[in-house]
Amino acid sequence: MSTSGSGSIEARFYSVEGGKVRCDLCPHSCLIPEGKRGICGVREHRKGKLYPLTYGLVSSIHPDPIEKKPLFHFLPGSTSISFGSVGCNLSCKHCQNYEISTAAPGRVGMTRIEPGDVVEYARSSGSKSVSWTYNEPIIWHEFTTAASKAAHDAGLKTVYVTNGFIQEAPLRELGGLIDAMNIDVKAFRETFYKRVCGGRLAPVLKACEVAHGLGIHIELTYLIIPGHNDSEDELREFSKWVSDSLSKDVPVHFSAFHPDYKLTSAPRTPTGTLIKAYELAKVAGLDFVYLGNVPVGDKDDTFCPRCGSPVIRREGFFVTHADLKDGVCAKCGADLNIVV
Ligand code: SF4
Repeated sequence: MSTSGSGSIEARFYSVEGGKVRCDLCPHSCLIPEGKRGICGVREHRKGKLYPLTYGLVSSIHPDPIEKKPLFHFLPGSTSISFGSVGCNLSCKHCQNYEISTAAPGRVGMTRIEPGDVVEYARSSGSKSVSWTYNEPIIWHEFTTAASKAAHDAGLKTVYVTNGFIQEAPLRELGGLIDAMNIDVKAFRETFYKRVCGGRLAPVLKACEVAHGLGIHIELTYLIIPGHNDSEDELREFSKWVSDSLSKDVPVHFSAFHPDYKLTSAPRTPTGTLIKAYELAKVAGLDFVYLGNVPVGDKDDTFCPRCGSPVIRREGFFVTHADLKDGVCAKCGADLNIVV
């Protein structure tokens, strides 16, 4: 692979304020003194300019089932070549990828690639899409946008797995560049975001609405942590917001927590809590609700909301049966909000 890139490409979405620079990529809006980095740890102020230190630097490359993102309604059954870097703009106490999300550039082994290289990785792995995942892609904006353009030029689709903590201007730039997003809504309370994640809920909800409005295919993931974000009121309000502010055909994935990183005091999510979340979401009118990362009957399968027939059956991350015709129910023709 060629070797130009990180540390010499100038960042976008920043301004100079006195002797500091203000980064406007995510809602932290870090005001960064000379020689320092923002909260994400990968954007550095040098002599009045901001530089993305991870441009072209990849910590992980892997061909994944698209269902692993999770995306159940986007190119179902396909492979997505997946790239991650290091750093994050949130600091979730339960982060499952903390080895890379908390790593500084240069502290873990990284491969340097050029934007166009993602096309060859996709071709050689038989992937239909390129995914930005594993760590937060927002803080990798300059590279992911350049590489997404290259992927599109080669006829590939692009995927973003994100915490949604992004300002509106850079998010709007992803319209037409990113085809699908899985967005984490980590709770439906500001107190959780402040206490557990070092962020805020309102910008995440706004980002979901903007991305949906831009025509990006979105699916949401809500990780249920006992005692932290699992009250019936909170789960009910979340599902009502999806129905009212997005659409009832936006797929929602409820997933189970297991103790990790700094949040080891909370227990695993009981199956009964997941089922309750599923039922509340159905009562709120959501068409496509899934329980992830634990087997709970057929609650990871897709059923046509009009005729009730099983449209996609899954085992883990793999599609075992699909009864689709051009993305609609093969039996009754209902639109299932599935991109094929
Ligand atoms: S992207 Fe990083 S430097 Fe920019 S505002 Fe967010 S945390 Fe701060």
